[in-house]
Amino acid sequence: MECVVVHYGEIGIKGKNRDFFEKKLVENIEKITKANARRKFGRIEVDYYEGIEDRLKKIPGIRNFGVGLKAEKDIDSIKLAALKVLPKEFESFKVQASRSDKSFPITSPEINQELGKFIVEKTGKKVDLKNPDVTVWVEVSSKEVYVYCKKYNGIGGLPVGTAGKVISLISGGIDSPVAAFMAMKRGCEVVAVHFFNETLHSREVRKKIIMLAQKLTEFQGSLRLYMVPFESLQLEIIREVPDKLRMIAYRRSMMRIANFIAEKEKAKAVVTGDNLSQVASQTIENLKVIHSASSLLVISPLIGLDKEEIVEISKEIGTYEISILPYKDCCSLLVSKHPETRAREEDILKCEVYKELEKDVADMAEVFDFEI
Ligand code: ATP
Ligand code: MG
Repeated sequence: MECVVVHYGEIGIKGKNRDFFEKKLVENIEKITKANARRKFGRIEVDYYEGIEDRLKKIPGIRNFGVGLKAEKDIDSIKLAALKVLPKEFESFKVQASRSDKSFPITSPEINQELGKFIVEKTGKKVDLKNPDVTVWVEVSSKEVYVYCKKYNGIGGLPVGTAGKVISLISGGIDSPVAAFMAMKRGCEVVAVHFFNETLHSREVRKKIIMLAQKLTEFQGSLRLYMVPFESLQLEIIREVPDKLRMIAYRRSMMRIANFIAEKEKAKAVVTGDNLSQVASQTIENLKVIHSASSLLVISPLIGLDKEEIVEISKEIGTYEISILPYKDCCSLLVSKHPETRAREEDILKCEVYKELEKDVADMAEVFDFEI
């Protein structure tokens, strides 16, 4: 009977909340893999099927997992399982046993030795402790023993949903999908919001945003996306706000609309892909003016990363190829040649006569629900 044994990292240290974190992770694993999962004394056991590895590698909260067999709690059963999980071809191996059940009569070093000797006898291969072709992992827990040679790293972090819900502002760029992923990785359930201009390349942009949303769905199992029609507000902003301040005015409107949507969704924060000093709107002064339009906390998880680091993550999570499609979002098409780098809130406040439109615009958003 093949199975997966899942290990988590940080949940282990959450004291009284441990139960809550573990249950959430089991729930998320079942939602994303569609396989049966259960808690087993400090680990989670999941029924195996071919291809489940790719799904498990994307679930926040999983540090690593092994794919192999469950054995009875006796050394003969462990030996039999070890022979079955070994690959067809290898030259050297080592055994790495761990025993969380200290009442099991054989210690970990003894398991390593006895099982090692047995494998040498049966296969004629040699032990190499420093650089083996294969490692045979043996985990003795209080009820069962897991034996496996295939071990994979997960993404770590915390289970989605344990930190609450957030609104993630997704443009068509490289940064914001990475920011949404990082929020998920720290336990947030993400609701995506995109602002678009119906009159500008909208078909392609919509397709691109939907592709990004589908990619992000892989990490949390389901995802809601709000598509907010922004052109009427953009026209007002163009009329009321001087060229240099427009980008900041757009972003403040986005913040307020995101707050309306957060109210509907019972979300607790707004996440952006802002990155300090990357573009003109991202000086400390400008970010202050933009973020202060939100009454909810604004989280910008990329704030201290270099562009190269962000690109690397976006490649790892699979959003990069989509983000570089040539279609730009509504705002990148309307950048001023000389944007203000030190905006003052009082200058913008004077222009924001169009604020009462924002609630209606929020209500006009189209809602999409994605499932894995
Ligand atoms: P990105 O690569 O995510 O576009 P950026 O570094 O290019 O980010 P900006 O384009 O100035 O920076 O946008 C900063 C943040 O504002 C974005 O990361 C995103 O969170 C939000 N944002 C910008 N435009 C939009 C939009 N059209 N819809 C939703 N959110 C947006
Ligand atoms: Mg951008």
